[in-house]
Amino acid sequence: MALIPCPECQAEVPVRSKICPKCGTLVRPIGRGGKMISFALAAVFVAVAVVALVKGPAP
Ligand SMILES: [Zn+2]
Repeated sequence: MALIPCPECQAEVPVRSKICPKCGTLVRPIGRGGKMISFALAAVFVAVAVVALVKGPAP
């Protein structure tokens, strides 16, 4: 299992736990989480653009 360092106490935290077992800090994995957030933002942006195109200019 992959371990990531806790941002608060530098303890090694299992990626799947998400919370440091030593100090209780929420640990966020950077790699996949960041990509997921970027994908979500892109999806929202596309959805807004499609809605704007379908609605057309306001009368
Ligand atoms: Zn910690």
